[in-house]
Amino acid sequence: MINFEYLRVSTPKAAIEALSRDNTSQWIAGGTNLIDLMKKGVMAPQKLIDISNLPLKEIKKEGNKVHIGAMALNSDVAENELIQREQPLLSLALAAGASQQLRNMATVGGNMMQRTRCPYFYNTDLPCNKRQPGSGCGALKGFNRMHAIFGASDKCIAVHPSDMCIALAALDAMVLVNGPKGDRRIPFTDFHRLPGDTPQKDNTLERGELIIGIEIPDNPYRKNVHYLKVRDRSSYAFALVSVAAAMDLEGGTIKDARLAMGGVAHKPWRLSEVETWLKGKSVSDAVFREAAQLAMRGAKAYGQNNFKLKLAPNAIVEALKAATQKT
Ligand code: SF4
Repeated sequence: MINFEYLRVSTPKAAIEALSRDNTSQWIAGGTNLIDLMKKGVMAPQKLIDISNLPLKEIKKEGNKVHIGAMALNSDVAENELIQREQPLLSLALAAGASQQLRNMATVGGNMMQRTRCPYFYNTDLPCNKRQPGSGCGALKGFNRMHAIFGASDKCIAVHPSDMCIALAALDAMVLVNGPKGDRRIPFTDFHRLPGDTPQKDNTLERGELIIGIEIPDNPYRKNVHYLKVRDRSSYAFALVSVAAAMDLEGGTIKDARLAMGGVAHKPWRLSEVETWLKGKSVSDAVFREAAQLAMRGAKAYGQNNFKLKLAPNAIVEALKAATQKT
């Protein structure tokens, strides 16, 4: 473990100013990922600016949107009555993530900022372009069972590990950001990025930009929703594949749908084309199977994760079935 300075701030303005004064500093909230990264020597900030006490914990309805502060705890959001009533898909996804102890510490903003769990990224003796650009990707021809089947590059095939973010991508959430240049709103699907030639960049935030909160627009997805997470241990493990499914049904017809996948790409993988295709179709296993095949267009596996090419479409079918069967 390295030595570092510790500073606690109480306003977003103080947090942004403190970070801009020192290039070696880093914000910390729940610390459920950053502390691991520091222990392993992957990250070595010389100053930690504790933002966990910022007044950004509120969960409230504002007009026709639900606003969630960036410092709200994952467990508080998952168990919140407003979220369970109006955005149940988010509650289900949060409950599927990590363990109760971790959910009690992890914040919404921290969940979005967590790094990949690729084992090469965490081992400083091994090559990893995300940790050390230009060093190579150990996973490409190595241990890649957990890795991406969509949107990867020859520089990085890692996946984003969050469950919460998969639901937020499906629900058209907006990320509210404040920074040295003022406020910015980022559509959730544009917040995380694909690796391309710069896998060291997980998201589109600029240095010094602080996540203030997220907004979820009102939607009709209050009943027919399901979050399916396929993992090695049901108690606590990252997703091999996950599917967030939300359906707006009228009789046996799909009026509208929202679908996103986790465990398959460097960012939450929204299935917009499949959503459009599903509109107006009847609820049936055959339709769901066809939707799943459409979702798999362009998928590519890397050896140990070949099984995901079968698991992913099966998971989509099961999630759609489970969502439509809720009464
Ligand atoms: Fe590093 Fe990405 Fe390759 Fe993993 S997949 S070793 S994170 S470059």
